[in-house]
Amino acid sequence: MERLAIVVVLSVALFVFACSGDANDATRPGVNSFGQRTEDLARVAAELTEALAAVEATRAPGLQAGTASRAAAAAAEARLEQVMETIRLPERMRFFSLQSTGPDARTPRLCRLCHAVAGAVVTAIRVQNRTGPALASMVDELCIKANVTSPHICTGMIDSNTPIVEYIVRNTPGLDSGAICGTFMPECADGVASMRWALNKDMGAKPPGQIRSTMLDLKDPPPPVEPYRVLQITDYHWDSEYSPDGNANCGEPTCCRKNQGAPPTPEDRAGRWGDYRSCDIPWETVEEFIKHTQEKLHNVDLIYFTGDVVDHGVWETSREKNEYRIRYTFRVMKESFGDTLILPLVGNHEPHPLNIFAPDYITDDALSTRWLYEVLADEWITHWLPEDTRATILKGGYYTVLVRPGFRVVALNNMYCYTLNWWVLHDPVDPSGQLAWLIDVLLAAEAAKEKVHILAHIPPGNDDCLESWGREFAKIVDRFSATISAQFNGHTHVDDLSIFYDEYGRPNNVAFNGGSLTTYADVNPNYKLYLVDGNHEHATWNVLDAELWGFNLTKANENPDLRPEWYRMYSFKETFNVESLHPFHLDKFIGRLTTDNQLLQQYYWYHMLDSDVGHLTGCDQICAERLICNSVTTITNEIDQCERYFKTLRAQSP
Ligand SMILES: [Zn+2]
Ligand SMILES: [Zn+2]
Repeated sequence: MERLAIVVVLSVALFVFACSGDANDATRPGVNSFGQRTEDLARVAAELTEALAAVEATRAPGLQAGTASRAAAAAAEARLEQVMETIRLPERMRFFSLQSTGPDARTPRLCRLCHAVAGAVVTAIRVQNRTGPALASMVDELCIKANVTSPHICTGMIDSNTPIVEYIVRNTPGLDSGAICGTFMPECADGVASMRWALNKDMGAKPPGQIRSTMLDLKDPPPPVEPYRVLQITDYHWDSEYSPDGNANCGEPTCCRKNQGAPPTPEDRAGRWGDYRSCDIPWETVEEFIKHTQEKLHNVDLIYFTGDVVDHGVWETSREKNEYRIRYTFRVMKESFGDTLILPLVGNHEPHPLNIFAPDYITDDALSTRWLYEVLADEWITHWLPEDTRATILKGGYYTVLVRPGFRVVALNNMYCYTLNWWVLHDPVDPSGQLAWLIDVLLAAEAAKEKVHILAHIPPGNDDCLESWGREFAKIVDRFSATISAQFNGHTHVDDLSIFYDEYGRPNNVAFNGGSLTTYADVNPNYKLYLVDGNHEHATWNVLDAELWGFNLTKANENPDLRPEWYRMYSFKETFNVESLHPFHLDKFIGRLTTDNQLLQQYYWYHMLDSDVGHLTGCDQICAERLICNSVTTITNEIDQCERYFKTLRAQSP
């Protein structure tokens, strides 16, 4: 799970906060989901700005050191402390203890903090004309005083993000704390008009008679040949700083690392192969995975790698470090899997700073993502992709490949919908023209009677995906549902699926989530193997079955001198007794979860990659609603399908 996202959110919030607070806030009427009035939030931002300015005045060089000056300085510090007291996060809310940036993490206190800091930052940039180190040092002080995270993590995150935030605030007219906070936490504002947009591009009409949910034959006929085998690997997050002697309970966003001190108790000691707590994995676990696949998977036809190479030490990334990890990982994958085609994606952890992907027209080297796209194009094309993918990889990290006649794969970079990517504040409308390009690719595929698999790092409907981007993407999926046979995601580190529905509520597509190789957090290392109807003239390229594989981390760590025991956790079709993995039957399966608690618990265990933590916690009513709702939601905040299931689920609860 992306707990680290909260660090980013809060740091962003700090920046953002600092970026807002101009006159627009004061004139914006309205009340957010918590009943907080915009004008009250703006007032806190103004108070913070004023208190910061007073403290700064007492620190100005050349002031005489006298009793009066010391008294004035103490009074200014006391006033700042008084303001901070109204916005500071309580200890339990420091980023590393939050599960995600999802609705549960959003509280009135977090909104107030966001508005105050964003307001102060905007004023600092636009009105006080702060820039560079002076701006970074102000935000750094706010981050530390607001108890967002440890001081060195504040500094690391803020130093790398400051130039980007400064550019965005200076060059985005109308950007205020409401727009900033409301973009990544919709509950915190009364709506953000600039985030509501629609593509103006003709997709043509849906071909008649090709609505998947009404196709007569929903059962897969036995394929005339052996199924085509697709291996999905995702979210490596290997940590070169990992230490099996490390402290797994270190109080930082990522633990089990060198230089985090000795574990205070034997229970806090990191595991040999990883740890259920907030730790990534050592390189040895990646090597073990490769060795296992080489021994057991001789006949894989195709490999999808759905992103996230770099570890969760997000406060100490750099272009050099990330480039080394990315190049090393892809070179080892090439050596390990030989001639088997690997189709890779970029994850949100690959850029420096984390999550930040600039639009293609940002060419200033200090701000641009070009360096990363050049590294990816270089490695991917050298090892696996045709030269004609270079142009779109350099433009935005996306591409398409015709794998064989009649079967195409589209690899997207959907961090352009990620609300933690600050650039969506500057230009949210189809960044780098990716969705318009996707429509052109799908129109051509439809005309050529090709079937398509879509890969994207972030699953549809994720809380952190910009609603408009998600809605436009879902429209495209609906229009081309007869062409898109399946989709594959990563990012959340859990085993999952997302069902798409047409305007009449009929299921017409599905995206499978591959879990993660990292154990971060509470999960076992895993991979997925899909059996696909391919390799023959009338192939549908539908997923016939999905197998989940992994090993139990506790057992593996208890026997550090032995190799872990990999096992097949499920065959989706057999274990859950479904007729097929068509969207129609998967929708029926989700319906069964609302009335069969035993099945629900079993599904939850595998959702948590059969980890001891998942078995220990089980899935209560809140968990069940979240699990089911996520499975039937592909547009952030649109929960119409959930309501249908909640009625049954709530009727069953004691
Ligand atoms: Zn990840
Ligand atoms: Zn990710």
